[in-house]
Amino acid sequence: MTFVVTGACIRCKYTDCVDVCPVDAFREGPNFLVIDPDDCIDCALCVPECPVSAIFAEEDVPGDQQDFTPLNAELAQVWKPITRTKAGLPDADEWAQVVGKRAELQR
Ligand code: SF4
Ligand code: SF4
Repeated sequence: MTFVVTGACIRCKYTDCVDVCPVDAFREGPNFLVIDPDDCIDCALCVPECPVSAIFAEEDVPGDQQDFTPLNAELAQVWKPITRTKAGLPDADEWAQVVGKRAELQR
């Protein structure tokens, strides 16, 4: 099992989740974070930290977000670790309200 970052994180990237991860499983892209399934120990500490509720246990990922599970695994192979919280994207608060941001994801 692993935990998965889903679409609500796109263009928000508040990074509140990063500090609590005991195994530094988060990887950072231009406007999205993913969890490396090889590192995640399923502790669930990151879930309540996310202000937009973007993080789910693998078996709880909503039906319309299922592609984010393989996407986290794929992008974790190429993106670099992020281990400390930093400022969210400047327009994060506006994008936090937007549903269906899949096309906005930058690799
Ligand atoms: S706290 Fe939520 S929105 Fe922010 S980077 Fe983590 S998963 Fe993405
Ligand atoms: S569930 Fe735990 S180990 Fe996995 S990414 Fe979240 S904080 Fe890290």
